Amino acid sequence: MAASWSSAEDGSGSGWVEARKWCRHLSSALSGVDLSEIPKPDTVCNFCQHPTENWLCLSCKEVLCGRFVNGHMLLHHSHHPSHSLALSFSDLSVWCFSCDSYLDAPLIPPLRPLYQLAYLLKFGEDPPLPPLPPPSPSPSPSPSPSPSQV
Ligand SMILES: [Zn+2]
Ligand SMILES: [Zn+2]
Ligand SMILES: [Zn+2]
Repeated sequence: MAASWSSAEDGSGSGWVEARKWCRHLSSALSGVDLSEIPKPDTVCNFCQHPTENWLCLSCKEVLCGRFVNGHMLLHHSHHPSHSLALSFSDLSVWCFSCDSYLDAPLIPPLRPLYQLAYLLKFGEDPPLPPLPPPSPSPSPSPSPSPSQV
């Protein structure tokens, strides 16, 4: 039988948006892409040759400038709506255009090697990666090592 997902994760009205740990565009945007080789972080925009603030489209590995330059990555997404994910070459954050949200790349298994590689290309060293969260969330038992009050 068809499972009907009623997700209620949208719509928190607070101004600060936390980076997502997952998004449903990951598999489609990354399908068939070999991200073991990516352009260098100092690659210029494919359209206007702007040297900084560029983004890497994770679906086709095109390098395009951000919305505060000439917006060529935004334009690219409007032409190719399935190309949802882009990596910022300025701060190595990953943005999902479809979710309008940042993704926490170091904590997302399909994006982690990409983040590692981009970091290595940019800084010449391995990133200080946080440990991956356990695959299945388990309720943490309340720690009570030394009950001082009885
Ligand atoms: Zn551009
Ligand atoms: Zn693309
Ligand atoms: Zn998404």
